[in-house]
Amino acid sequence: MQALIKRLTKRIKKKGFIPFVKRLPVLHRYESTQEGRCVGCGICADICPALAISVEASVQKDGLTNVEEFLFDTGRCVDCGLCVEACPVSAIDFIPLQADSVVYGQVLNQEELLELGKRKS
Ligand code: SF4
Ligand code: SF4
Repeated sequence: MQALIKRLTKRIKKKGFIPFVKRLPVLHRYESTQEGRCVGCGICADICPALAISVEASVQKDGLTNVEEFLFDTGRCVDCGLCVEACPVSAIDFIPLQADSVVYGQVLNQEELLELGKRKS
């Protein structure tokens, strides 16, 4: 057991992420306007079994929602894909995890997730 923990710890340090997590959920923009697709409905946060996502949004005078805060905790995500499946506006999707993307345990905000989302589009 100790040998396994040692091996996993070594891989986390080398790869920057837990070994069995292969993908990273990120956010996307509309190509035409470059606005973030996320409407702050919070469905992804509600469905996430690992409590890896938190969303705060407010309703503006025109009735549209404004995403005040979108946080994703890389240390909690178990790569289940439920958030991606549940999003009604295809705002969240996976990118393959790369060692230089993030550090394990890093909490990413909306801007950082949108920036990472560029790698896919
Ligand atoms: S992939 Fe699963 S664990 Fe990761 S953020 Fe989405 S719902 Fe949560
Ligand atoms: S990513 Fe999708 S499911 Fe999550 S809050 Fe934004 S619009 Fe809703």
